[in-house]
Amino acid sequence: MEVRCPSCGRLYSSFIPPRCSCGEPLRITYDYDSVEVSAWEKRKPGVWRYRELLPNVPEVTTLHEGGTPLLRAKLGEELGLKVFIKDETRNPTGSFRDRLITVAVSYGLPYAQNGFVVASNGNAAASLAAYAARAGRKAYTVVPKMIESGKLNQVVAFGAKVLRYGESVDEGISYAEGLAEGRGLYNVTPESNLIGLEGQKTLAFELWEELKPTHVVVPTGSGSNLYSIYKGFTELRELGLLEEMPKLIAVQAEKCSPIASEVLGTEPKAEPTKALALYVKNPVMKELALEAIHESGGTAVLVGEDELDLGEKLLAREGIFAEYASAVIVPALLKLAEEGYFEKDDRIALIVTSSGLKGHYAETREKFAIGGTKLEILRLLGERTMYGYEVWESLRKPLKYQAVYQHLRELESLGLIREAYRRGRRVYYTLTEKGRRFLETLSE
Ligand SMILES: [Zn+2]
Repeated sequence: MEVRCPSCGRLYSSFIPPRCSCGEPLRITYDYDSVEVSAWEKRKPGVWRYRELLPNVPEVTTLHEGGTPLLRAKLGEELGLKVFIKDETRNPTGSFRDRLITVAVSYGLPYAQNGFVVASNGNAAASLAAYAARAGRKAYTVVPKMIESGKLNQVVAFGAKVLRYGESVDEGISYAEGLAEGRGLYNVTPESNLIGLEGQKTLAFELWEELKPTHVVVPTGSGSNLYSIYKGFTELRELGLLEEMPKLIAVQAEKCSPIASEVLGTEPKAEPTKALALYVKNPVMKELALEAIHESGGTAVLVGEDELDLGEKLLAREGIFAEYASAVIVPALLKLAEEGYFEKDDRIALIVTSSGLKGHYAETREKFAIGGTKLEILRLLGERTMYGYEVWESLRKPLKYQAVYQHLRELESLGLIREAYRRGRRVYYTLTEKGRRFLETLSE
């Protein structure tokens, strides 16, 4: 592995920061002449199957990521097109980011005595939390104020620290960099450290092995996935395995479109979208993502908020439960098909990046399970500690005291409230950290 500036040729021994002193983003390359691709098929599917094109690591930290299924889409048959779905929800933590994190954690382990840090809008945070736990190291995650509760639950369950910072993930990047410096943490944020993209690019290798796609449709927020897929394909071309670069199609939400607008020549927007994982206002890797689109001869598509449910329903019909940020690929496909963008022999791959279990549904379900009276009790206890009778009085509802007592017990067993202290026979309750976070999530 070699780290070099593609512009001035300077060699580097580290890729943090990921830029040359001349300003150009660094590139990681390999001795492509010595790579024996025939070794791949003798190995199990997964990220590390492609180890000749991955950094050398002292020890692999793995949960068996990658090697995800490629499903033929029924939708394609209806459109008269060959459409396939790469189901990245089947990764260990339910998202494509496990490919990035297995490589970043394995590589960074010797530098991570004090732990790891990542700035993420959820998926990479959940993934880092899992892999750091596996490696027996601490994980710090810098996540934006708006984050899906499923992702947050994963981070907390794996015992990682949560630092909520900024409105969209790009605002947390320099905060994570500061934290890495101050506490001696190994930073795996893809915008700050190229190494994880080496794992991410294996998505391209799998697509090539299984399909040899002509088009790859990628949900695009930060652009790091799009760029890493592009890098994977350029390496296959370098190895003489790829005649034509598949066209890369970036899909963004109309409400947050910094990359797609540049391609389409429309006015960029940077507002929050229901496809929360695509809410990246100022993507650091924009230039690289644009390079991936232009060099591959691809394009970009914008998807409206009202099209997200349709996308999710059509994916569900294929047997896949995807988050909104992934569901954008379906309306994008329909739009391009309608425009006559595809030929009938094209092999189109749609990337479903992340599971719907992480997204709004998880939140809706939790909201539902803890709706009504329980929510009111949480709000009351969020203001001050109270004992049972006080809660009952403050609710001013035609409820029996016994019913309120039952709610309190259930909230306690859910870990949302706890006993603060007792005075005589009175038990005073207060919110737990989880309860406080839960309320915070709901109020956003
Ligand atoms: Zn340079």
